[in-house]
Amino acid sequence: MTRIKNTPAKSDFETVRDWVFDLDNTLYPHHVDLFAQIDKNMTGFVSELLQLDPVEAKKLQKRYYHDHGTTLAGLMLHHGIDPQAFLERAHAIDYSALLPHPELGEAIKALPGRKFILTNGTVAHAEKAAGALGILEHFDDIFDIVAADYTPKPASSTYDKFMSLNRVDTAHAAMFEDLPRNLVVPKALGMRTVLLVPRNLEEVVTESWERLTDEDDYIDYATADLRAFLAEIMA
Ligand SMILES: [Mg+2]
Repeated sequence: MTRIKNTPAKSDFETVRDWVFDLDNTLYPHHVDLFAQIDKNMTGFVSELLQLDPVEAKKLQKRYYHDHGTTLAGLMLHHGIDPQAFLERAHAIDYSALLPHPELGEAIKALPGRKFILTNGTVAHAEKAAGALGILEHFDDIFDIVAADYTPKPASSTYDKFMSLNRVDTAHAAMFEDLPRNLVVPKALGMRTVLLVPRNLEEVVTESWERLTDEDDYIDYATADLRAFLAEIMA
């Protein structure tokens, strides 16, 4: 990982006019761990749908996540579920762990051009999370899993759909993400790529296939502090 830079070079970002952000664990840090609640809700959904005990339900949930990119994609493919019901259940969480972050809002506002949220979650979830952070007003649009026809990142068709809908010129765009694999396509499209890493990286247990590999040349930058990184771009 030595090649990956932590401090933005001005020249890399001076022509960027479209700023694309993942939501979860990107616009708020990993340690907030909203996902623990979502994860629990998804397990509950699978458990009730298929009459499985929680341990078996969790195993199946993770297998679908691994094989299809999201638990939802696996449930739709194998069990024909109503995605809306699943998404509502998954995101029925308590957002109070997200505190207003005006400095982050200022840093996003200061970026020249348009700002987008590109999430495998829903618009409702993104609005609640970004609303709790007090940064929602700075975004031009939210592209969610429904807009993506339930095909999650990192599928290239989903990025294509997002880029063409918003006429994003990828040569002048940057992508911020916490999952390395979701930066492969953006880099191939010519975007600047920034990986958000947990501040307590060593303690964080990730699934092995989510981790960085040696073939990480699609990641330009890595940072644990989005606000500081954005402020540095505009310094
Ligand atoms: Mg994320």
